[in-house]
Order: sequence, then C-alpha cells, then structure tokens
Amino acid sequence: MRIPILAGNWKMYMTPRESQDMLAQFLPLVEAVASREIVLCPPYTALSAVGELLQGSPVKLGAQNMYPAQEGAYTGEISPKMLQALQCNYVIIGHSERRQYFGESDTSVAEKTKAALENGLTPIVCVGETLEQREEGLTEPVIEIQIRRGLASITATQYEAIVIAYEPVWAIGTGRTASPEDAQHVCAFIRTILASLAPAEAQKVRILYGGSVKPENIKELMNQPDIDGALVGGASLQAESFSRIVRFE
Ligand code: 13P
Repeated sequence: MRIPILAGNWKMYMTPRESQDMLAQFLPLVEAVASREIVLCPPYTALSAVGELLQGSPVKLGAQNMYPAQEGAYTGEISPKMLQALQCNYVIIGHSERRQYFGESDTSVAEKTKAALENGLTPIVCVGETLEQREEGLTEPVIEIQIRRGLASITATQYEAIVIAYEPVWAIGTGRTASPEDAQHVCAFIRTILASLAPAEAQKVRILYGGSVKPENIKELMNQPDIDGALVGGASLQAESFSRIVRFE
C-alpha cells in the first residue's frame, strides 16, 4: 500500500509574508485529511517561516534543491545539514527547470540523491522528456537514462526511501496535462525500470505525476494504478486549489 503524496513546489514564488497568508487559509482546509502525505516546498528564504507554521500540522516541509556536501566554501549553496536543521523532510532533486536553466545533469542528480538519503531527507527525483523528444518517440529511452544515471549512486535497499516525479517538460506551466493514460503509461514504465534495479523495493516506490495538475484533473490521475501522487506547481500557490488537490476533489 503506497500512501499518496501531494507535494506543492512553490518555485520562485512566495515571500515569508505571502507564505504566512497562504498557510493561514490552507492549514484549516487540510487538517482533517487522512491517509495522504502533504508536502510544501517553499523557496529557501521562506523555509524557516513555513517550517514554524507547519509545526503541529500534518503538512511536511521540503526544499527545492540542495548542494551535495555538508558544508564548505560553496558560495550561494545550501547543504542537507542546513535543511535538516529547519526540519525539512523532503528535497526536490533535478527538477527540469534546474536541468534547463542551471546546468544540472544526471550526474549531479545522482550526487544529490545520495547526499539527501545520507542525511535523512527523502529525495523527490524528477525526470521527464521534452516535447521534441516525445515527438521523436524518445520518451522511454530518455526516461530510462535519467532514472538509471540519476539513481546510479544508491543501493537497492535505499529505493524504498526515494520518490520519483514524472514531469513531462511540455506539460509544466503550459496548461497542457498529459492524459491520465499517457501519464500512467510512463509511470508504469518507470516502475519496470525500478524493478530491474531493485526488485524487492520497486512496488514500494511512490511515483508522482507533475505538469499542470489542477483540482479538475487530479482525481483521474490518482485513479491510475502507478500514479501515487502529484508534484504541483502553479495550483499549489493558492490555498483553495491546493486543498482541493490534496483532497482529490
Ligand atoms: P505546474 O503545475 O505549474 O505545471 O508545475 C509543475 C511543476 O514543475 C512542479 O514541480
């Protein structure tokens, strides 16, 4: 039984003050929701404020990125130790925007995934094909390489502690959602790759879908057997829409 995860990726939105206003509305709407893991990933500058507001609530805290070292002369970077000190439980790794704009590769994903696990953080490892790759029929080989290389540094027993997010790049922020069947097809494909890497753990790994998830399409996505939750961008910024997504209404 895989407990669904509904995670909000706030990207580069929300000051501490704006986060406070959002949470004042959001938390009462989700406090009675059971059998779900709810995660919010604010920008670094709001992590501390959001972490304090989440204390005593069922909502967990995540970061959007981290550097794979405990500390050191890495100007501008944030370490897993720093995230842990703020009570973070999750960290998004290798989001397509980081791959596209900040030069992240499968190699950095592998380093960060390993470092996250070593520091007790659950990595949400993102994979996904571009529109061009999909149109050329390359979705499966692209995803397979991202998974195999991105997870190259972890042991089979560590698979249980990771989360994968399938986010087709063409569906992010575009209003174009993958159809539930297409999303299911790729998520099932991801699970077969996981089964080849860690046969005993693959059925326990949560695989999320991300890309224009809204209250209107979450239910159908969640009805798919290999989709175990969602990584939500735009619709996680508003209390009303994200609470409806969390409740699958
Ligand atoms: P949108 O939900 O805004 O399409 O963003 C998806 C995403 O990138 C979540 O990480």
